[in-house]
Amino acid sequence: SKDRGGGVFHAYEPQLHADAEERRVLELELRQALERRQLALHYQPVVEAASGTLRGFEALLRWNHPRLGSIGPDRFIAIAEETRLISPIGEWVARTACEEAARWPGDLRVAVNVSPEQLTNPHFVTVIASALVQSRLPAHRLELEVTEGVFMREGTGATRVLEQVLDLGVRLSLDDFGTGYSSLGYLSRTRFSSIKIDRSFVVSAAKGVPEPLAIIRAVVALARSLGMATTAEGVETEAELAMVRELGCSNIQGYYFGRPLPVAEAREVIRRGSTN
Ligand code: C2E
Ligand code: CA
Ligand code: CA
Ligand code: CA
Repeated sequence: SKDRGGGVFHAYEPQLHADAEERRVLELELRQALERRQLALHYQPVVEAASGTLRGFEALLRWNHPRLGSIGPDRFIAIAEETRLISPIGEWVARTACEEAARWPGDLRVAVNVSPEQLTNPHFVTVIASALVQSRLPAHRLELEVTEGVFMREGTGATRVLEQVLDLGVRLSLDDFGTGYSSLGYLSRTRFSSIKIDRSFVVSAAKGVPEPLAIIRAVVALARSLGMATTAEGVETEAELAMVRELGCSNIQGYYFGRPLPVAEAREVIRRGSTN
């Protein structure tokens, strides 16, 4: 039966099988990654657009896998979400990031990514409260980054958990803005401190494509009128930097100012007081 026009499908089967197998193995290994101390946070600088002053860092998860080396979150966060491993992993991320940021001077902030799954857990607010108390990090120096996916989860209590976490005094930013099913309703209902403009807009706008340029301009104006800041993500080049500054983005993050760095290197950036 596979011969009757099914040749193409057949050709993909070994790869499909390999992917499913790799995923199953990764899932088993991910269960042990935490206790084996294979997870690490890297910290990427976020700077103020106008002055270039360091404002803080975004914590980005890495898995130091014994066979595969350093693995990025795009390869295992989805697995963690589907297996509920995201709860213990997310708790470790929050605690570790708060403890690290508590050593930083001044008002430097740390931003932590929170997946929608985590907000469906009513204990999430306790996890954040406890991370703040134990690290003694002032709440306003912790920023949580959520995506539009959070608002697609009606009936799970996610937005209610979000409100409770906000009552702790932490900051909230809207990540990857414009890449999901954007609805402006939740922007006015939720106490966001900032909107993060996805790299895809930055790249095409800097190439002179008019629509993404118009969108960034509109988002900056919208954020301003709602009293929110904007962060341009994924700024790599001088041209992209000039453009997002020109458009009035408040903060900038991207390889131009620094890649995600191991903790010791992030401390070195703070010590030198400069990202280069
Ligand atoms: P994100 O939150 O949008 O993070 C930004 C991603 O863009 C990071 O990828 C970062 O390394 C990359 N990036 C930053 N600047 C540049 C640039 O100038 N050019 C390019 N090409 N890329 C840049 P990363 O570290 O691989 O993380 C991917 C995604 O995984 C994150 O996207 C976030 O959604 C998720 N993630 C990372 N850490 C965590 C975590 O602790 N918990 C959860 N739930 N998700 C996480
Ligand atoms: Ca993020
Ligand atoms: Ca992002
Ligand atoms: Ca992203």
